[in-house]
Amino acid sequence: MKPWKANIRKVIPYVPGDQPKGSHLIKLNTNENPYPPSPFVSGALKEMDYDLFRKYPDPVASVLVDALAEYYNVDRDEIFVGVGSDDVIAMAFMTFFNSSKPVLFPDISYSFYPVWAELFGVPCEKPALNKEFQIVKEDYYRENGGIIFPNPNAPTGLYMPLSEVEDIISHNQESVVIVDEAYIDFGGKSALPLTRKYENLLVVQTFSKSRSMAGMRIGFAIGNPDLIRALNDVKYSYNSYTMNMPSQILGAKAVEDQAYFKETTEKIIRTREQAKVRLRELGFTFPDSMANFIFASHKTAMAKDIYEALRANHIFVRYFNQPGIDDYLRITIGTDEEMEALYRFLEEYL
Ligand code: PMP
Repeated sequence: MKPWKANIRKVIPYVPGDQPKGSHLIKLNTNENPYPPSPFVSGALKEMDYDLFRKYPDPVASVLVDALAEYYNVDRDEIFVGVGSDDVIAMAFMTFFNSSKPVLFPDISYSFYPVWAELFGVPCEKPALNKEFQIVKEDYYRENGGIIFPNPNAPTGLYMPLSEVEDIISHNQESVVIVDEAYIDFGGKSALPLTRKYENLLVVQTFSKSRSMAGMRIGFAIGNPDLIRALNDVKYSYNSYTMNMPSQILGAKAVEDQAYFKETTEKIIRTREQAKVRLRELGFTFPDSMANFIFASHKTAMAKDIYEALRANHIFVRYFNQPGIDDYLRITIGTDEEMEALYRFLEEYL
């Protein structure tokens, strides 16, 4: 073997959902928002000064940080922004998870966590969800080098009451606890207010789902200024100009339009609740999702077969060929029309 080949780092990467090309398809596979971003965003884009493209962006993303500080009623030094929450969480792994003790996250959860653990060389342990797919809080009472879990969890959609989230944090004040709230705007209470009570708590959110801006890549974390300072030190040791200027400006615009945010998230929640009724009628069972997707298994038909049949008919959902969840499809909530097309197909197919 060539010596340089021996020095290549071997990793098993995270596999993102398909981004199929074409307009005549129904895309319910990556939990994107089916509605466009706020008209405040398109308005600002039309007026954008292209001289911004020539210059380096503001490394502290002050327009966006200011907008978030105002919206969430926190100080600017309590906010860290990154290129999607994937970037924020990767930075957080690098910054906070450096112990020889294992980082804990649920066995069925966001499948990027084990990839980061491997990439950054930190040991991890994955407490199993219970039979109902719930996180068992007592499993997080053991010694650890950090904890991360999504709430609502992905891909199950199950929300853990804030009292249980707080119970996990209060039992783990020796390590950093990260609550990944990618889907919190679709139901449930955020742990954000607890960041003033627990200095070791970091709450991460994203513009990819509830703010219809997955393509702009905007994520953020809120926590104690000491945590945020540590995250920034690592960020500036790695890449100082992470977020481009259009994302900063358009992200800030999205935050300003509170009415549109409320209207679109409420629409998705309504469609999700209807989807629960319709999918149940079609013979599916699922945990009671509080996210913008439903993790559904069929009583008789195999998930993989349904997935392939849907795909052949240009309807894309997510299927994980993984032990424990290979009987399930993760179906993103689309518009009412998209969901009707899904039910129509399923009615015939099943
Ligand atoms: N956390 C969870 C639980 C997710 O499902 C996702 C979406 N893949 C992310 C984080 C990352 O989202 P983004 O990088 O688009 O903010």
